[in-house]
Amino acid sequence: MQEKDCLFCRIINGEIPSAKIYEDEYVYAFLDIAPGQQGHTLVIPKKHSENILGLDLVYGIKIIEAIQKIAPAVMNAMGAEGFNIIQNNNEVAGQTVFHTHFHIIPRKPQDGMGLWSPKPYETMEKMQETAKKIIKALQ
Ligand code: 5GP
Ligand code: ZN
Repeated sequence: MQEKDCLFCRIINGEIPSAKIYEDEYVYAFLDIAPGQQGHTLVIPKKHSENILGLDLVYGIKIIEAIQKIAPAVMNAMGAEGFNIIQNNNEVAGQTVFHTHFHIIPRKPQDGMGLWSPKPYETMEKMQETAKKIIKALQ
């Protein structure tokens, strides 16, 4: 279930201390040590997988259930009006810890956090070509 050299497995096991928010049989949630906003929480499955592609779906459902419980609590506690769920996969996408995790980041008006800069398609045709490439890759 867990990997001895994985930082988040070691946090689940209590080998490394964390500011725990919530725990059940499937899920562990704790504060991010370098938060994007105060209250930034990480929700992780207790079964190790490197990223979301390997996540056992039983744990996936339990994680979504936990997020539905934890995110409103994070918002209320921090006086936030919304939240982002961020989930990075692979180094190029910003993943630094290779145990699947979901970030809950509470948001307030004008909190200065930007998520991405839009890069519009030059034409509708280019957008359709891109859709076709992905549909082909799905087959
Ligand atoms: P990623 O960049 O992989 O999506 O997110 C990993 C997150 O784990 C980062 O936001 C980072 O601040 C957090 N993190 C890394 N090491 C620790 C740690 O030892 N304790 C806690 N609580 N968070 C950590
Ligand atoms: Zn792990």
